[in-house]
Amino acid sequence: MKTIIKKVNRENPNEKIIMMASEIIKNGGVVAFPTETVYGLGGNSFDENAIDKIFIAKGRPQDNPLILHVSSIDEVYPLVERVDEKARLLMERFWPGPLTLVFNKSEKVSYKLTGGLDTVAIRMPKHNVALSLIKHSGVPIAAPSANTSGRPSPTEAKHVIEDMSDKIDMIIDGGSTGIGVESTVLDVSMDVPVILRPGGITIEDLLKIFPKVEYDQSILKDNVVPKSPGQKYKHYAPKAKMVVYNGEVENITTAIKNHAHQLVLEGKVVGIMATEETVANYDEGSVLVVGSRNKRDTIAQNLFSVLREFDSLNVDVILAEGIDTKGIGTAIMNRMKKACGGDIRHV
Ligand code: AMP
Ligand code: MG
Repeated sequence: MKTIIKKVNRENPNEKIIMMASEIIKNGGVVAFPTETVYGLGGNSFDENAIDKIFIAKGRPQDNPLILHVSSIDEVYPLVERVDEKARLLMERFWPGPLTLVFNKSEKVSYKLTGGLDTVAIRMPKHNVALSLIKHSGVPIAAPSANTSGRPSPTEAKHVIEDMSDKIDMIIDGGSTGIGVESTVLDVSMDVPVILRPGGITIEDLLKIFPKVEYDQSILKDNVVPKSPGQKYKHYAPKAKMVVYNGEVENITTAIKNHAHQLVLEGKVVGIMATEETVANYDEGSVLVVGSRNKRDTIAQNLFSVLREFDSLNVDVILAEGIDTKGIGTAIMNRMKKACGGDIRHV
């Protein structure tokens, strides 16, 4: 299959290109498109063949459910059993935006999409290309991240091209996504909202509205089975082995320098994921700056593309600096932990 690739303006996408993409969706095809978090791989959520195509293109395990994307709050009602006061408040406050809500599903939603669960995850993206595509398609769009399963999520069209060329019908190139890590997945089925996956909306944001918000135990502890199926898989992983160092910044840089030196002596090609504040400390290895410790948003924006860049540099080992878990830092460390397969060393 030859993949059509079209560039559009992020704010004001060319209507003809959006129409072309929505025709593909209506006819059961799959299209990658930008959102404010990462690129999504979308298909008609009411078409089981289209859902199959998404799972196949990604190589995604069947029990890992897809997120439904809508372009208005009204579209949620037919898809779910009930919208309670809490969910309504969250949608009004945070949509469009990087918050995915988990509801009990209605009969309209296929078990193929939910990986066999009775719940469905829904969000409304804050991106004109995504919103326009959903509106023109006239159906909710099922869309996981547009990467090969297990690889870092795509934050630029070139990442989607790397993973999906000739496997999908179309890629809409709307430039870099904004936030860079995926949406927060929030279970609102109980009295206290539970974060199943940390993401673009932080616990601090949610605590402004609710007196109590909890993390799923699997986010805080190892060896607990996550409630969100996708969280149990190795994820976001570069090809190289990766080690994350965490602790006081001075201890981190010293440990990484020592480890890098030892690896270089062993003849290994070393990549170091540094921050603006620490980059001057390193004199060995391929050093890439992921962002600033004082502006964690920049680290979220660049994390996945830096992981992919280390792949293109063919490094054997990536030594990465951990960061603190304030604000979006929790989402960043969650992705880093999965990317390194849990090899976080406290120094
Ligand atoms: P992705 O769109 O690739 O970021 O993956 C979607 C994420 O949403 C995965 O981590 C899924 O496990 C999660 N998800 C989707 N539907 C549900 C659901 N019904 N309950 C819990 N988590 C879900
Ligand atoms: Mg994903």
